Amino acid sequence: MVITSQSTLSVRREPELNKRVLVVEDEGEIRQLIVLHLKREGFDVDAVEDGEEARQLVATRNYDLIVLDWMLPSLSGLELTRWVRKRSPSTKTPILFVTAKTEPEHVATGLDAGADDYLSKPFDTLVLMARVNALLRRQEWLQEQPSSSASARLILGDLVMNTHTFEVTVAGAPLELTRSEFRLLESLMMNQGKVLSRESLIEEIQGEGVNVVGRTVDTHVFGLRKKLGAYADVIETIRGVGYRVRYLPPQN
Ligand code: CA
Repeated sequence: MVITSQSTLSVRREPELNKRVLVVEDEGEIRQLIVLHLKREGFDVDAVEDGEEARQLVATRNYDLIVLDWMLPSLSGLELTRWVRKRSPSTKTPILFVTAKTEPEHVATGLDAGADDYLSKPFDTLVLMARVNALLRRQEWLQEQPSSSASARLILGDLVMNTHTFEVTVAGAPLELTRSEFRLLESLMMNQGKVLSRESLIEEIQGEGVNVVGRTVDTHVFGLRKKLGAYADVIETIRGVGYRVRYLPPQN
């Protein structure tokens, strides 16, 4: 008589080894393409074609990133983004929205609703993966940062801002910024890697007696870049939409 061993020696994998990405896209071919590339890079992927279905998944699972189409059945990407941000403003799962609509106002609406970056269709899968990885690296970096109330220092490479003393230095040399330039740079640096629309920047620099329009933001960015000198190109122009400060890994 042979006694078979019932012991299960299955080796459990680390539960949080892979990053989990949710793909929401109703066009089958595009969805499969995105899923294929994400899986190839070792991500765990859930993919759905419907906005409401995506909402139910987000309510029950944690995702490290959401790749979200805008035009979707039952619940649009915009509505889903608003729901995600309203539900848990503290858990900032990055949202990369993929859209066929590329009018600046449309893109700005998406970013203001809480998306972190966008990609226009048709897109190159290399660009898609670069954006995905950049958003995940930025997220890791954000999670390592002390809470903003604990630290007054914002650091971007050699550029250092102290939000308590209002001092700004580039490689140790002090910069003289106007109040608006300071507020503008502060919002951009607090959101490294994220595109900020002109509208959201207007809100940031709007102060008592200051009436700011889109053009004024451009003027302040122009002035800021001049003062930043060799560091001017850390501020990227997102044509027709707004601005972004490039994410730079901390230098040790
Ligand atoms: Ca669609």
